[in-house]
Amino acid sequence: MRIAVVGAGINGVMSAWALARRGHEVELFERDAPMAGTSSASTKLLHGGLRYLETGQLGLVREGLRERAWWLEQAPHLAHPLELLLPVVRGRGRPRWMLKAGLALYDRLSGSRLLARHRWLDRDATLARLPGLRADGLQGAYAFWDGQMDDHALGLWALAQARAAGVRLRAPCEVLRIGADGGLSVAAGIDAGAAGERARDLRFDAICNLAGPGAGLLLERSGLASAHRLRLVRGSHLLVDGALPCGLLVQAPSDDRVCFILPYAGQVMIGTTEVEQAPGDPVLPSDVERDYLLEVWNASFEQRLAAADVRASFAGLRPLLAEAGGASENTRGHAIERQGRVLTVFGGKWTTSRSLGEQVADAIGGVRP
Ligand SMILES: Cc1cc2nc3c(=O)[nH]c(=O)nc-3n(C[C@H](O)[C@H](O)[C@H](O)COP(=O)(O)OP(=O)(O)OC[C@H]3O[C@@H](n4cnc5c(N)ncnc54)[C@H](O)[C@@H]3O)c2cc1C
Repeated sequence: MRIAVVGAGINGVMSAWALARRGHEVELFERDAPMAGTSSASTKLLHGGLRYLETGQLGLVREGLRERAWWLEQAPHLAHPLELLLPVVRGRGRPRWMLKAGLALYDRLSGSRLLARHRWLDRDATLARLPGLRADGLQGAYAFWDGQMDDHALGLWALAQARAAGVRLRAPCEVLRIGADGGLSVAAGIDAGAAGERARDLRFDAICNLAGPGAGLLLERSGLASAHRLRLVRGSHLLVDGALPCGLLVQAPSDDRVCFILPYAGQVMIGTTEVEQAPGDPVLPSDVERDYLLEVWNASFEQRLAAADVRASFAGLRPLLAEAGGASENTRGHAIERQGRVLTVFGGKWTTSRSLGEQVADAIGGVRP
C-alpha cells in the first residue's frame, strides 16, 4: 500500500520504519526538521518508569523495560545503562518499605532483561557514591539501573534505518488536512511525478497521523471527529555545570513530584515540570519552572544553585491521553483510533516507540487498499 505518515518525531519514524519493513511504500511528512519536537526534549531516559507502578500501570512498565533493552542493544553508541540513586531521607518522601517494594517489582518486571538488581547503600556508602549530597536526615539510598540516551541522535539513527528500508522523507513539508478517503493536502507543493510537476493535494491508501502534540489539531483542522482528546503538558529541564557519577531520583520539596538530576553530556540536567498548556502556546521554560527545578537541586545538594548558574534550558510538550487526575497520574500509554483510511495515535512514550510502530503496522492491516 501507499502510506503517508505525518510527523517525524520518534513515534512517526518508528511507525514509518515498521511499515516499510512490511513492504509498504511509505512517505514521511514533517513540517520542521525530523526529531525537532518533543522527541528531542525528553528526560533522555530509556525506562519502564518506576513511578508508573504507583498507578498500577504494570503492562506499560513491563513493555518499557523490554524496549529499554532493545534500544541499549541496537545502539550502544547512543544509549547506555545509567545507575540512579533513590535517597531515603527521614521525614521526607515515600517510606523506605514502599521504595523497596517498588524496586523489587521493577526488577521482576525486567525479567531476563534486568540490567542489575537494585541494592541498598547505607548513609556512608551513599555519600561516597554521590559526594555533595545533603547529609541531614539521610538514611541511605537504593541504587538501581535504567537506560540513558541522546534522544536527538538516537532518533536520527532510527530515521536513517527507516530511510534505508525505503521510507521517503518529505521535510520541511506541513500537512494541512487529511481525509478519511486518503486525501492529504500539504502547505507547499512537492515534486509529485516524473515530469516534476508540483502537487498540493495527494492521495494515499492510508494515512497515519503521528503528529504527537499536533495530532488532535490536525484532526480538528481536517473536520474529523475523534473519541480521544490530548492534554498538552509542558515539561522543562535545566542544564548546569558539574559532573555526577550517577543519576538521582528525588521528590520535589514543594509538591512531592518525582524529579531527576542526571549527568548528561558533560553537564548536569535537572527535570522536569508539568504545566498544562493550550495548543499554539510557546513551548518554553518559564521562570517559575526554573525556580522549581533549582529548588529540587537545592533540597538535594549542599552546594546551592541560583538562576545565574543555569547554562541552558529546554522544554517539550507531552501528548497525554486526556483523562481524570493530574498530569502525574495521567496514563503514559497510547490509543490508536481509525477513521476510514486515517489512523491517529494519541500519546506514546519515547522508550516504547518501537512497539507502538509495530501496533500501527498491525492496525494498517485492517485498511483496504
Ligand atoms: C519533558 C518530557 C520528558 C520526557 N521524558 C521521557 C523519557 O525520559 N523517556 C521516555 O520514554 N519518554 C519521555 N517523554 C515522552 C516522549 O518524549 C514523547 O512522548 C515522545 O517523544 C513523543 O513523540 P512523538 O513522535 O509522538 O511526538 P513529536 O516528537 O512531537 O513528533 C511529532 C512531529 O510531528 C510534526 N508535526 C506536527 N504537526 C504536523 C503537520 N501538520 N504536518 C507535518 N508534521 C507535523 C512535529 O513537527 C513533530 O516533529 C518525555 C516527554 C516530555 C515532554
